[in-house]
Amino acid sequence: MKLPPPFMLVTAAVVLLALFAVLPRSEADFEIPDAGDRDRAIGDTTKLPPALRKAFTDDGSSGAIAEPGAGDWLANHPEPGQTFAEFMRVRRNRPDETRNRIYLQPIGLFPEGFAPSLNKLRDYTKAFFQMEVRFTPPIPLAELPAKNRLNGRKLQLLTTDILALLRRSLPDDAYCMLAITMTDLYPDEKWNYVFGQASLRHRVGVFSFARHDPAFFDGRRPPGWRNLMLARSCKVLAHETGHMFGIRHCIYFDCTMNGSNNLAESDSQSMHLCPSCLRKLHSSIGFDVVKRYGALGAFYAEHELDKDAEWVTGRISAIRGGD
Ligand SMILES: [Zn+2]
Ligand SMILES: [Zn+2]
Repeated sequence: MKLPPPFMLVTAAVVLLALFAVLPRSEADFEIPDAGDRDRAIGDTTKLPPALRKAFTDDGSSGAIAEPGAGDWLANHPEPGQTFAEFMRVRRNRPDETRNRIYLQPIGLFPEGFAPSLNKLRDYTKAFFQMEVRFTPPIPLAELPAKNRLNGRKLQLLTTDILALLRRSLPDDAYCMLAITMTDLYPDEKWNYVFGQASLRHRVGVFSFARHDPAFFDGRRPPGWRNLMLARSCKVLAHETGHMFGIRHCIYFDCTMNGSNNLAESDSQSMHLCPSCLRKLHSSIGFDVVKRYGALGAFYAEHELDKDAEWVTGRISAIRGGD
């Protein structure tokens, strides 16, 4: 199998997202996992309480992963996947008595009406992870100790400088800290842009929502674009924070933890964790699965994400349903 150039390697320590160029198709094409593979990804649930067993069952509510198109993530990164059992075996961070809060660090402005609301992003993160989520005071761009450049007419910030800053300022009670910004990002001179970059070992990451606004590409904003931008940003926050728990890309189901090479691919993927990834997150945090779905459902309903609201309602009925 041909390996990608070293700077594009995705490792447990550093995750680089959204390559600008479509990479050459690998010789080892991705094979769609079958129902047996999906069951193995979830693992044995027979000893779990009934509610958890139902929550972690492949009952069709999370579809099988779609065949990747030529420009999609798995066509270019044929990852091996990570079963629940494999997840349990690796060394990974977990929240504990001391480090149990997720911090969001806004960088630059989030203008009302033209950026996802910070409070909504916090509420979603809180519902998704069932953990306390706090803001650190926003850092104005003029005070940010990070290199920047102009790419065409777009200002871009250097991710590695921001990650270094986050590492220096990580609060004692932080499980992880994610910087979020409406300014575009680049990881080094060779790259055109990235959506974000994270260091799992150091529990910090930085993510830009700039490209979630259809107007970024000088395109028109279609009706409902604000909810679209909010949903995209929520999905990125959930996916990236999921990595902070040691959850690798999901190759089994249509799932929040699917890798994604571009915005169209990300838009086509689910807002929801599949049974395997939900089991991983649950093993780290230990939330009440029904309470979590209830909080997510209320969020989706409030923001007219009706299909997603319906999906979680279906999950709650399935989990509460008779044996
Ligand atoms: Zn990822
Ligand atoms: Zn998954």
